[in-house]
Amino acid sequence: MKNSNSNLVDLGGYRQEKLKENGKELRVFLKVKSRLGYCPCCNKKTRTVYEFKFRDIRHSFWFDRPSILVVKQRRFKCNHCKKRFWERLPGIAQYSRRTETFRKQIAKRALEGHDNKLVAKDFRVGQSTVLRDIKHHSKLELKKKQDKYFPVVLGIDEHHFTKKKGFATTFCDLKRRKIYDVRLGRYESSLGNFLANVRGKERTKIVVMDLSSSYRDLIQKYIPWAKIVTDRFHVVRLTIQKFVEVWKYLDPSGRGKRGLVSLFRRHHSKLTEIQELKFRKYLKSKPGLESLYDFKNEIHDFLRQKNLTRKKMKHQIKRLGHIIEDLKASKFNPMITLAKTFESWQEEILRMLRFSRSNGITEGFHTKMEKISRIAYGFGSPSRKGTN
Ligand SMILES: [Zn+2]
Repeated sequence: MKNSNSNLVDLGGYRQEKLKENGKELRVFLKVKSRLGYCPCCNKKTRTVYEFKFRDIRHSFWFDRPSILVVKQRRFKCNHCKKRFWERLPGIAQYSRRTETFRKQIAKRALEGHDNKLVAKDFRVGQSTVLRDIKHHSKLELKKKQDKYFPVVLGIDEHHFTKKKGFATTFCDLKRRKIYDVRLGRYESSLGNFLANVRGKERTKIVVMDLSSSYRDLIQKYIPWAKIVTDRFHVVRLTIQKFVEVWKYLDPSGRGKRGLVSLFRRHHSKLTEIQELKFRKYLKSKPGLESLYDFKNEIHDFLRQKNLTRKKMKHQIKRLGHIIEDLKASKFNPMITLAKTFESWQEEILRMLRFSRSNGITEGFHTKMEKISRIAYGFGSPSRKGTN
């Protein structure tokens, strides 16, 4: 049997005080090196030790003998808030009577394909302990992975999930072009806990989202250091939608013609000369239409800008201000609504012009993801209904 560990106490943060051995086991007496305790309530340092106890902690084998760490654990008193608390021991999970190193050894051996019964016997623990260690170890590994990959540039988007379950929110890694996670719900009640505890979020720098104030509130609360950027696709889509509503009002019949709608929606640079000529002719046939179209183009041009330098931004701030003013002056309700949205999202829209990244990737993933998330949450794919 090779359960030995030549490096006797390979745990950092301790000072070895004494060593006792007998034929059966090895006892190593340890003290935590640091003289400080950190209050779990107010996070203040303290040196005041209120009491202490010795705890027996099982550690890796020393050749064929089990080793026991006798750790002196202190209970500190916080001088600030008067709270008394037991210190956390390095390399030992709270309430655990075995070191993390030891538990990892057991889990690894079992995961290598050895029979759990034999592993339990070898390490002199119960079989249920082996199972618990496998679970514990896998959880840690998963956390490590998530730590590593929590997006630096995060894209957030909602999509309709099922009638019963309602909406789901997609968290997307826009740098790696991968889905990070899909979670049910779109409000704090369902996402708050996840965002509060997700590991690795301190690395997140940019969050791209549609014009949803509930997502904005969530990010400002849980990842307040991240810079929020609006998603170009959504902003352009909303703008066009509002302009089409006004168009409908100005010419109820014209809006019904499919060809015209498509020409109206497209960016003007994407029309052929003949298309533009024909379209202009139509626009001139009704009062107000041509200026409506030109105004749409003005905003469309503004929103399409990418990678602007800081220097160029000064002018853009003014430009957005004028757009908002003009929208308000139009007296059309859809435009006033749009003006209010732009006003509330000024900062995030302007920031968008500095970037080239778009949340579009999240959009494209939706069909694929809907499948994945249905499976993940135990729903059958709706397309398979009836065929089974
Ligand atoms: Zn305290």
